[in-house]
Amino acid sequence: MLIEPTEDDLARLHAITGETPAPVPEAYLTEPRGRHRGQAAALLRPRATEEVSAILSHCAARGIAVIPRSGGTGLVGGQVRGEGPAPVILSLERMDRIRWVAAEDDALCAEAGAILSDVQGAAAEADRLFPLSMASEGSARIGGNLATNAGGVQVLRYGNARDLVLGIEAVLPDGSVHHGLKTLRKDNTGYDLRHLMIGAEGTLGVITAAVLRLFPRPGETVTAMLAVPGPEAALALFHAMRRRVEGLSAFELISGRGVAFVRAGWPDRPDPLADDPPWRVLVEATGPEGAGLAERAEAALAEAVEAGLAGDGVIAQSEAQRAAMWGLREMIPEGNRRVGAIASHDISVPLSAIAGFIAAAERDVAAVDASVRVNCFGHLGDGNLHYNLFPAEGRRAADYRGVAERLTQAVHDRVHALGGSISAEHGIGRAKRDELAARGDPAKLAAMRAIKAALDPGGILNPGAVLAAD
Ligand SMILES: Cc1cc2nc3c(=O)[nH]c(=O)nc-3n(C[C@H](O)[C@H](O)[C@H](O)COP(=O)(O)OP(=O)(O)OC[C@H]3O[C@@H](n4cnc5c(N)ncnc54)[C@H](O)[C@@H]3O)c2cc1C
Repeated sequence: MLIEPTEDDLARLHAITGETPAPVPEAYLTEPRGRHRGQAAALLRPRATEEVSAILSHCAARGIAVIPRSGGTGLVGGQVRGEGPAPVILSLERMDRIRWVAAEDDALCAEAGAILSDVQGAAAEADRLFPLSMASEGSARIGGNLATNAGGVQVLRYGNARDLVLGIEAVLPDGSVHHGLKTLRKDNTGYDLRHLMIGAEGTLGVITAAVLRLFPRPGETVTAMLAVPGPEAALALFHAMRRRVEGLSAFELISGRGVAFVRAGWPDRPDPLADDPPWRVLVEATGPEGAGLAERAEAALAEAVEAGLAGDGVIAQSEAQRAAMWGLREMIPEGNRRVGAIASHDISVPLSAIAGFIAAAERDVAAVDASVRVNCFGHLGDGNLHYNLFPAEGRRAADYRGVAERLTQAVHDRVHALGGSISAEHGIGRAKRDELAARGDPAKLAAMRAIKAALDPGGILNPGAVLAAD
C-alpha cells in the first residue's frame, strides 16, 4: 500500500540530494496541454545514479510513490499524478552530462537529463548525427525520450528511440542498478532489460543514462514542400520517392487547416507555397556529399508533378528556406494549442490504409457532430497521423464536452477496425490507460501486469501510468 511521505521521510530524501525542502513549483505539476494536474509532496533532483538508487531504496521500503520526470513535455500525462497519496517527483534535470563520445564506436553516452538538442549538438561536434528529432527537442530530455520510445520526424530512416539505443543504465524500483552501458551492436545474453525500460514510461525503472547510436552526418540534404491533391496522392508520391531516392528521411503530411491555424496566430510567418492547398507534404532526403542526391530528388519530384501526384512545389535553396519549411510544420502544435482542441489522437494505421482512414474518420466524426473541424497532420511515411478535432469557428472546446468522448471513440473504433494503434508515438501515460485496458490484447496486458508486479511489487514507480494502480 502506498503512503504519503512523513516529515522524517522528506528530511531523509532531501538529505540524499542535498536540497533544501521547498514547495514544488507549479511547472512540475502540469503538462504541456494542461489536461492533467499533479500533486507532489516533494521535488527531488538527484545529481548521480547513486542518489537515484538511494531515493528508490527508501521509497520502496516505505511505500512512497515516485514519479520520474525528465523534460516534462510528454503529452499523455505520464509525468503528473493527481490521485492517491502525494508522490515525490524525481527529476533527472541535474543529471544532464554527456559522459563520453566515442566517434570510433559511433556511440555517445548521455545522462537521462541531457536535453535532446544538446545530445544532437554533442554528436555534431564529433562529426556524427544523432537523428532523434522533434519539435520539443529544446526541452525534452533523453530519459523521457527513451521512457516514451519517442518517434519524431526521422523515424522513416532511423527508427524510433528504441532503435537508437545500444545500452542503458537504470535504477530498478528496489534501488538496484542495472549497469548496461554497452556499445555492442550484438549481445544476445538473455532478456534485454534495455527494451523493457524503453517505452515503459517510468513504471519499471528510472533510466539514468544511455549509450546512443550515432550515424554519419549527411553531406547533402534536400528538402521540399509540395502541394498534393490529397492523402492518396501523397502516399503514391511517397512510394514514388522511395523508389527513386535513397535516404528519404522525412515525409510529413500537412493539411490546409493546420497551416490556417498557424497563420491565424502568426500572420507574418511565410508560407513557401501559394494558394493555400488543402494538402501538402514536406519531404526530406539526406545522403553523402557528391552522390547526386539533389539531381535524383529533383528528377523524381518533376516526374511526380508530371504524373499528377503533386502540384505547386518548392525545393529549399538555402538553409533559411529549409528552416522556414520545417518551422511551419513545427508550429502546427502551437497553432492547435491556440485554437484549443476538443480531442487529440496520435494514431497509426498501415500505410495502405491512410487515405481510407482519413476519409472514413472524417465521416465518423461528422456523424457525431458535423460542426467539428479536423486538423490531420503527421508522419505519413510512418503511417502515424495526429488526428485532432477542433470547435467550429466562434465556439470553444468546452462547448463540446458532451461529445468529446464519443468523438474519440469514433476515431479509435476506426483505427481499431483498420488494425492500427491508438498511440503511435506519445505513449499511454494516464490519458490512454483505460483505453489500453479496454482495447489491448488480453495476453499482452496480463504479461505487462506480471512484469510490473515482478519488478515493482510495491507499485511505487509511476503508479497509475500505463496500467491502473492496484
Ligand atoms: C511541441 C511538442 C512536440 C512533440 N513532438 C513529438 C514527436 O514528434 N514525437 C514524439 O514521440 N513525441 C513528441 N512530443 C512528446 C514529448 O516531447 C515526448 O514524449 C518526449 O519524448 C518526452 O520527453 P520528456 O523528457 O519531456 O519526458 P517527460 O514528459 O518528463 O516524461 C514522459 C514520461 O517518461 C517518464 N520518464 C521521464 N524520465 C524518465 C526516466 N529518466 N526514466 C524513466 N521514466 C522517465 C515519465 O514518468 C513520463 O511517464 C512532443 C511534445 C511537444 C510539447
